[in-house]
Amino acid sequence: MLYTMGMKRKKATPTEKRDALLAEMASLRGLLNGSLVQRYSTCARKNCACHTGRRHGPRLYLAATGEGGQRQTYIPAALAERAAEGVAQGRRLRAIVRELTALNLALMREEAGRG
Ligand SMILES: [Zn+2]
Repeated sequence: MLYTMGMKRKKATPTEKRDALLAEMASLRGLLNGSLVQRYSTCARKNCACHTGRRHGPRLYLAATGEGGQRQTYIPAALAERAAEGVAQGRRLRAIVRELTALNLALMREEAGRG
């Protein structure tokens, strides 16, 4: 990542990169941790066509792993776009966490070497 320093462009230091990632993290306010899955299902009405193979759907669900295992939450069609954006933000958050881990490990080693 490049930062504009006065008129010159300079490579960001690890500390500057970390600050930028932390700021980006704070902007991911719609994040959803999980993935979107489409499901077809049958209903409780005995005479419904869904029991003859024409199942209802596709319906959208957010699949997320929590403390009790995987959980699927129904997402109404009107919220599908927002959910997709949230899942993309969740993916970005996980990438940022990996980048921060690498940066912090490098900074820890650098600081230990200086001491
Ligand atoms: Zn049905």
